[in-house]
Amino acid sequence: HLEAGTALEMFEHSLARRPDDVAIDYFDLTLTWAQLDRASTTLAGLLVARGFVVGDRLALLLQNDPAFVIGLLATWKAGGIAALISPMSTTEELRERFAEYTPTALVALDHLYLDRARAALADGTTGVNIVLTVSPLDGQTVPDRRLFADTGRPSVPDTIDLVALVRTALVDPTGLPELPIRPLSPLDTAVLLSTSGTTGPPKAAQITHANLVFSAHVYREWTGVSGTDAVLGASPLFHVTGLVGGVMLSMLVGVPLVLTHRFHPQVIVDAIRRRRPGFMIAVITAFIALADESDATPEDLASLRFRLSGGAPIDPDTEERLSERLGGYIHNVYGLTESTSPTLLVPFGQTAPIDPETGVLSVGRPAFDTEIRIVDDEGIELPVGGIGELIISGPQIVRGYWRNPVATAEAFTGTGLRTGDIGFRDADGWFYVIDRKSALINASGFKVWPHEVERVLCTHPAVVEAAVVGIPDEYRGESVKAVVVISEPGAVSEAELMEYCRQNLAAYKYPREVELVGALPRTATGKLLRRKLM
Ligand code: ATP
Repeated sequence: HLEAGTALEMFEHSLARRPDDVAIDYFDLTLTWAQLDRASTTLAGLLVARGFVVGDRLALLLQNDPAFVIGLLATWKAGGIAALISPMSTTEELRERFAEYTPTALVALDHLYLDRARAALADGTTGVNIVLTVSPLDGQTVPDRRLFADTGRPSVPDTIDLVALVRTALVDPTGLPELPIRPLSPLDTAVLLSTSGTTGPPKAAQITHANLVFSAHVYREWTGVSGTDAVLGASPLFHVTGLVGGVMLSMLVGVPLVLTHRFHPQVIVDAIRRRRPGFMIAVITAFIALADESDATPEDLASLRFRLSGGAPIDPDTEERLSERLGGYIHNVYGLTESTSPTLLVPFGQTAPIDPETGVLSVGRPAFDTEIRIVDDEGIELPVGGIGELIISGPQIVRGYWRNPVATAEAFTGTGLRTGDIGFRDADGWFYVIDRKSALINASGFKVWPHEVERVLCTHPAVVEAAVVGIPDEYRGESVKAVVVISEPGAVSEAELMEYCRQNLAAYKYPREVELVGALPRTATGKLLRRKLM
């Protein structure tokens, strides 16, 4: 299936085939492949001139803007590694990421982010000596103002304005720097990307060029996306889903990447109307927002032939409602940062089965060249139907965590990546993920999977959402606690919900404590933060 190579070669392939076609579409700014090439060469030249050397890290603190793609390509052209950091990070989080990645260069978006980055860099230990700023409010690159309702105009006097730099390169392509030849290998680390931190402190996956190239191929081969299907960058590019199912896929296929700075349902719908993209991957929360917080009609979205959702479980009823409301089936994809996104996917043209016993929607079937095994606590492979941990091996498994040999040895074993996810395979080869291993509750030695209790709670008409966790219990070791969002105040009481569960679950499974809350804590991409409920 694969042409071996680096992610940069993948870009160069599209550049050679269609230099004057649109590579990036961003509000009223478009960049062709040739312009993207020149802009990134200009930036790479600047990095090299300022002492950036092979293997150095460039920290990208950007939203879904053209500068993200330019920064990524420039890093590779200069022989470096792009450290992707959420621009929403707090100063403390930035301090941690900088200490971990020790970048020598930084590209940050506007003054708000830059102020936080500066504060995080204040102790001077990281050795950052190049700081570039990108202003989304700057002239030609003004995106939709709805995204910046309360942002003042930035002024950062002592940094280099990347937008101005790029614009110079676009106007005057003659002044391009001569870059030293720094051949990359497919086995070189291309990006450092933190896991979401859903179950504990985030760890940074070292994603190689070969990993990126392989995963982009998986999305292309699996869907059949072609040279006429623009790719909508609906997921954050600093997450693995957006990086692979956005930037990398558009580079592989040689089609425009449609960017909108960040996810705002109505802005996204307007971009779809304007640019008619064919491919979109996002967490299910994004599809819910499109359905409930925009005026999109199925006709508006008709160009989106390929709709994929990954990164978090999909509730079967939600899936059905969204397919109806948005006029197209959403295909489930399962993957991790450590597996460079896709490992299990629902094949195109098929609908995922729902397991009758657990009510869980299948996450699909293994991608090509990918092996998924289900093992018990001793690592012994289980037969069909057996519930255990998913272990993945294939060309998308990353080369380990950055500067973290202990965590690397734990997760990356000789037989594959330990995912920490619990699930099973059915007789027809479909896989199901039930819960995360760390979510298992041990009540007096009885094992309780939160999913089963949550499912019962959600059958109560007054319950909107529920999350179940184990809390310390002197007598039982752990006991079951439910945190519940209800339809309206007074719709049901804590005691009534407890009783409802007692009638519908085994004695050791029903929650000994119920708490009603306004909303469940989630990550930026909509994942339930179970540990915040404990
Ligand atoms: P951390 O490892 O820091 O706790 P994280 O595992 O949430 O964070 P990611 O790599 O972003 O970080 O997410 C991978 C996890 O997301 C998987 O291990 C799985 O639990 C969940 N996941 C991904 N896709 C799906 C899916 N389609 N259905 C159910 N769960 C999914």
